[in-house]
Amino acid sequence: MGTTYSIQVVDTRLSPAERREWHEEIDALLEDLNRQMSVHRPDSEISAFNRHASMEPMEVSAGFRHVVARALELAERTGGAFDPTLGPLVRLWGFGPDGPGDGHPTPEAIADARRKTGYRHLSLTEDGRLMKHLPELELDLGGIAKGYGVDRVADLLRAHGATRFLVEIGGEVLAEGTNVRGEPWRIGVQRPVVGPATDAGFQSIVPLTDGRALATSGDYRQFRHATDGRILSHIIAPRTGEPAGMATASVTVWAGDALTADALATALVVLGPGEGLPLLAASFPEVEALFILRRADGAFDTTATPGFPAPTSAGGAARHEHGCPAPPH
Ligand code: ADP
Ligand code: MG
Repeated sequence: MGTTYSIQVVDTRLSPAERREWHEEIDALLEDLNRQMSVHRPDSEISAFNRHASMEPMEVSAGFRHVVARALELAERTGGAFDPTLGPLVRLWGFGPDGPGDGHPTPEAIADARRKTGYRHLSLTEDGRLMKHLPELELDLGGIAKGYGVDRVADLLRAHGATRFLVEIGGEVLAEGTNVRGEPWRIGVQRPVVGPATDAGFQSIVPLTDGRALATSGDYRQFRHATDGRILSHIIAPRTGEPAGMATASVTVWAGDALTADALATALVVLGPGEGLPLLAASFPEVEALFILRRADGAFDTTATPGFPAPTSAGGAARHEHGCPAPPH
């Protein structure tokens, strides 16, 4: 997935041999997900589907099918703000494997790429095959796959009997039980200062426990500069085909599973608090979100749903490293 992971388990009974065994199983699980959903691998299922320039439905593995079904559901429920078919636009704005252009695609090029996108052109057949209604359609699960990976790793740990752990892939996290001090895990939400991973500090520290997940999306790690110095986010607003605006610097979503949190964080960067907060209140009452907003003077404001977990006192938080130095996914 072009990123790193970290897992902490609080369990004094674990022998070194067991630890090795768990580690190997986790690596195998993540390797499996890459084989299904990584657009960086030409031999992955997603790459095969993207090359499949035909409306003939394609057989895919169960995990892949599940993620596509959830992606389509969340696309529908966010009014298309989350859209897993934006690959041509992601590339056009310079976040694909071909690297950056000048950051100034022509309106014609944007219109042309938009014609090849749209989650409505994608469906699952009754027998569970994946079908394009436009031969050029592509899937990009970069906004949801890490969250799914976190959920799967958590399932694996639970199957081994673990009851106290923290799973993190590329900044998306899920916590079960309590940390080594017997308290809820503490997750630092980085202050969204634009640039490489720095010590900008935490905007907030969120307590996390009981199998809840936290995901952050933003423009402050994965971005590029256009030739005129403008900052371009790697999150695309489907309605315009352009990078999402800079007013919403980051969104952190608290949800019952990491896949939902990951996808909604991406969607809420597109929607901003103006549209995002009403959408959450109306359609996702069980989900909480923290928006960090960039002011004209460079400082940050925050706004959140009423139920967003109250920050614990600062210091000693597990690092919630958002984004990654590796190639964008
Ligand atoms: P991060 O990888 O930093 O956690 P996200 O979870 O927000 O970020 O995922 C961003 C990735 O999702 C982009 O790199 C791109 O591949 C894809 N993407 C961009 N815009 C959208 C969108 N509106 N809906 C769904 N996926 C998107
Ligand atoms: Mg996401």
